[in-house]
Amino acid sequence: MSAHHWIDVAIQTPAHSPVGGLLSYRSPFGVQLGQLVRVPLGKRDVLGVVWALRDAAPADMPESAVRDVLGVLEGLAPLDSAWRQLVQFSAQYYQRSLGEVALAALPPQLRDLTSEQLARRLKKQTADCAVQTTPGPALSEEQGTVLAQMASGTGPFLLFGSTGSGKTEVYLQAVERMLATDPQAQALLMVPEINLTPQLEERVRARFGSEAVVSMHSGMTPAQRLKGWLAAHAGHARIVLGTRMAIFASMPHLKLIVVDEEHDPSYKQQEGARYSARDLAVYRGKLQNATVLLASATPSLESWHLSRPANSEDPGGRYQRLLMPSRIGTALLPKVRRVDMNKQPRRAVLSTQLVAAIQERVERGEQCMLLLNRRGYAPVLHCADCGWKSECKHCSAFRVFHKIDRTLRCHHCGLTERVPRACPECGNADIAPIGRGTEQLEEHLGELLAHVLRPDGTPVRIARIDADSTRLKGALESQLAQVHSGEVDVLVGTQMIAKGHDFRRITLVAAVNPDTALFSSDFRAPERLFALLMQAAGRAGRDAAQSASSEMWVQTFHPQHALFEALKKHDYPAFAASELAERTAADLPPISHQALLRADARTQEAAQGLLNAAREALEAQLSADPSTVDLVLQVSVYPAVPMSMQRVADVERAQMLLESPSRMALQKVLWHLHGVLHQVRSQPEHKGVIRWLVDVDPQAI
Ligand code: ADP
Ligand code: ZN
Ligand code: ZN
Repeated sequence: MSAHHWIDVAIQTPAHSPVGGLLSYRSPFGVQLGQLVRVPLGKRDVLGVVWALRDAAPADMPESAVRDVLGVLEGLAPLDSAWRQLVQFSAQYYQRSLGEVALAALPPQLRDLTSEQLARRLKKQTADCAVQTTPGPALSEEQGTVLAQMASGTGPFLLFGSTGSGKTEVYLQAVERMLATDPQAQALLMVPEINLTPQLEERVRARFGSEAVVSMHSGMTPAQRLKGWLAAHAGHARIVLGTRMAIFASMPHLKLIVVDEEHDPSYKQQEGARYSARDLAVYRGKLQNATVLLASATPSLESWHLSRPANSEDPGGRYQRLLMPSRIGTALLPKVRRVDMNKQPRRAVLSTQLVAAIQERVERGEQCMLLLNRRGYAPVLHCADCGWKSECKHCSAFRVFHKIDRTLRCHHCGLTERVPRACPECGNADIAPIGRGTEQLEEHLGELLAHVLRPDGTPVRIARIDADSTRLKGALESQLAQVHSGEVDVLVGTQMIAKGHDFRRITLVAAVNPDTALFSSDFRAPERLFALLMQAAGRAGRDAAQSASSEMWVQTFHPQHALFEALKKHDYPAFAASELAERTAADLPPISHQALLRADARTQEAAQGLLNAAREALEAQLSADPSTVDLVLQVSVYPAVPMSMQRVADVERAQMLLESPSRMALQKVLWHLHGVLHQVRSQPEHKGVIRWLVDVDPQAI
């Protein structure tokens, strides 16, 4: 008779489960750490990862209560220790259960497969995916220097390179060099959103052969995801191209991680474990001894700060900064023109100069792009007689007027109703839209440019791309293809169109109304706006032949604002320096570190009640123990406040901010807070609370 093996298995447990997602089992056969197993859980049979091997039966339960492992997923190598450590760290740092993070990191289909089904999938795999590298262009001097710096340093690296400076080419050649020196090496290329940048995927596949490349993003079918995951896990896929979720791909021979557009907020997961894939990339690089390259034309202030050069008072940041200031070839960055909207007729949407400039370009056969970060026709409908506004009855927000289907839609809870014929309060028939969205801009442009003809004498063609126009599967791809093939002269859209596209014939980009971000309560709003405008400007004049005449227009009531001054000079470092000075003065990230505790409840009082009770209990607990009393001084815990979107779908939301100059101290306090919350939550006076969650390094306050 063989001895029993006692093991702890990571399984998907409900969030915040006190067991942390590890359960003990007995295995009649030998198992290895990291192996995938099927185990019983209640009446179900679930997938788990072997997380710890025990010497003896667990002490806290009778031996007879420990259940047997049902089986091992044959044919799969165990998940290696680096992968397990990445998961463990993520769970701890982002305050979620280990099992939740581990299982979320695996392709969903793996959970449902029997061993036989899995065996069939594995058999279908082509063992050795040949890499066929097609040589790239000769490197520019700046590209060559950057690659040499990467080869001689250890990183992590922050590549600060203008749009069009050839950053993508640097990634490709870094991959190429790595593949050439190590016959097993794998590279992970991360992008914010793959469906917005299909060209990148094409470029990578064209360079290395489709066989060697797998994609990982949420738009794939479960079967595709499993296939890609298996290929990466087995080491067959040499290059993984993916969105934030790809940071958890099992890649045993990972040697290079590239994070493109590293400043992009979509690297931060917004539900479950709210991880930052960019920050985890740096952590994972250290674990697996892989080179990490973060890159952007407008780095996040976090990464910029972490890559600051040393001086006599400051040892400098941990990242090595690499520079590529020039565009490839003779292409120039577009000229930035500010239009002072104070000098325009009141309530003008488009200045006369901008309309004239658009007309001129269309008549020359060039393309223009107009950005307005608000979809729909108008953000609110209003009755001038009684003051009624199109509020959502479930959210603290207005419902947006969509003229196309004459609806009022809440962009938060989805509540959609037909536009009323008259004011629902007083019956006044004359209810009017206030403000404007992309739908209205498209309509307005159609009127203003109705008489404008293209060089071949045909009328101007205007199109709109935003979340509404691209709701159907494949719509975005086909609309982008139309712009590329020149079937559109003037493109109107939200920030969706500013990202990454290589539109060759766009020579004019305009931000119609960017001012709101200047005065937002979110301290990151100016950083986001600057990145968006720089990126949008980067869409213009990518073709060297037209770059000299390309322009970025900004309509603003604050033309002298420092942000626009820096934009005009394409001077990210100046902008970053002034923002960092403000952040330093106000003790905000990246100088300090933050976490948010959020509570949702039926009433605002109940939500805040839980948070404030937790705050008091936390402080009492920390102060009572000499080993933790210092934490009270190191970490500020602010009183609970309503969230800026206070009510969504009839749920009241409150938040509590924790802030500290020390990441470590903040982590320790969060650990204590976790215990405190379980206690407080179980008290009867907090039963009205629906849920609570922690967001570490939140992207919005
Ligand atoms: P970025 O990623 O910085 O915006 P890309 O890598 O997309 O820039 O390069 C911009 C354009 O220049 C692309 O069309 C690319 O093919 C081209 N390019 C990049 N590097 C070179 C090079 N060394 N020689 C010639 N063309 C290049
Ligand atoms: Zn009214
Ligand atoms: Zn709503």
